[in-house]
Amino acid sequence: MSSPPHTPRSSPVPDVLVVGGGIVGLVTAWRAAQRGLLTALVDPEPGGGAAQVAAGMLAAVTELHYGEETLLALNLASARRYPGFAAELTELTGHDLGYRRCGTLAVALDADDRAHLRELHALQQRSGLESEWLSGRECRRLEPMLAPGVRGGLRVDGDHQIDPRRLARALVAACGHAGVVFHRVWAERLAVGRGDRATGVVTADGTVLEAGQVVLAGGSLSGRLAGVPEAVLPPVRPVKGQVLRLTMPPTPGPLLNRTVRAVVRGNHVYLVPRESGELVVGATSEELGWDTTVTAGGVYELLRDAHELVPGITELPLTETRAGLRPGSPDNAPLLGPTTLDGLLLATGHYRNGVLLTPVTGDVMADVLTGGELPRQARPFSPRRFGAAAALSEQPA
Ligand SMILES: Cc1cc2nc3c(=O)[nH]c(=O)nc-3n(C[C@H](O)[C@H](O)[C@H](O)COP(=O)(O)OP(=O)(O)OC[C@H]3O[C@@H](n4cnc5c(N)ncnc54)[C@H](O)[C@@H]3O)c2cc1C
Repeated sequence: MSSPPHTPRSSPVPDVLVVGGGIVGLVTAWRAAQRGLLTALVDPEPGGGAAQVAAGMLAAVTELHYGEETLLALNLASARRYPGFAAELTELTGHDLGYRRCGTLAVALDADDRAHLRELHALQQRSGLESEWLSGRECRRLEPMLAPGVRGGLRVDGDHQIDPRRLARALVAACGHAGVVFHRVWAERLAVGRGDRATGVVTADGTVLEAGQVVLAGGSLSGRLAGVPEAVLPPVRPVKGQVLRLTMPPTPGPLLNRTVRAVVRGNHVYLVPRESGELVVGATSEELGWDTTVTAGGVYELLRDAHELVPGITELPLTETRAGLRPGSPDNAPLLGPTTLDGLLLATGHYRNGVLLTPVTGDVMADVLTGGELPRQARPFSPRRFGAAAALSEQPA
């Protein structure tokens, strides 16, 4: 028989309890605590999650997709915040985040790819974004290790990178500085009190953690917390990505100066060179539930496609293979802010842009936790756009 829930006596009830200590939960907790809110976070392993796998491209411009113009505005707002955000985190914690303003080169290997890239370029220009079309020869002048077959590309100097593992570590440290209390345990169930209000969570060991407001930031697991009413459960699903890490030799000169990416036979592939010598090659995109197996096929396809772009990579040591889960939402955009259940907010569904969106997410969530309202730029990302209320409002009059 399981023991009844118990409430810890000594500690005061925090204003905010964040469920999930991935980069999204951590930045939310850090910014909330900085605004003077008494903040706690529950996660058995804060700083883990998808950031341990992610490439860390800050790619607002090269990741632009048709139909995602609203998300573009949020992505750009976050990209603009990155220099100040990274400097603040580094100054506070002493952690080097591997933030590199190196730019990105998206290249085409055949006529079809080139046509697609041309379309992306036109969309970028219509959206007022900075990108420059280069011939194959110009691409190779920038990146001499590119395959001779490269037919052209887009130079985007504004798309940078950060090391997400270092970011996660720094955010854990920043939370510590700001006085965030860590509960290193699973939250089993949302506690809902009288008057239909979220009042905290019940943890795996039966402890009740109470709080004034609860933020659910569980990444791809956000839709699985027991006790959350059906109408409020975030429609978030796991999207598997396999990633490889190779090591580049220190000399002579860098293998690549910037992130290089392409679509090869319909598969997205990118190579992200870190200052440390690590070369991240990613990523598959697979709808396989919570499976995080690294497969021979996944590794083979990534190496094959990356080799077509930069043949020299086959000489490099392969140091790590890993799979992680992107928290995908129905419109590929995050869910930020209050739900229709009083006291419960969401910060989830960041899908393939969670690293990029970390700075703006922290600010938006701190605003809403202190002021009760989503700032204007975040209103399109309210969780209320999904669910019963949204479905009703979409019906013809
Ligand atoms: C292969 C791959 C490549 C990527 N590349 C990029 C990229 O280049 N650029 C970019 O911007 N983004 C990228 N991303 C996306 C980015 O990594 C994610 O969007 C982001 O890390 C999501 O962070 P999160 O905190 O929302 O979720 P997660 O990282 O999943 O963290 C959720 C945390 O919540 C905890 N949790 C869940 N449920 C509970 C519970 N009930 N109780 C306690 N704790 C709980 C988990 O333990 C976990 O620590 C990539 C992702 C993948 C997988």
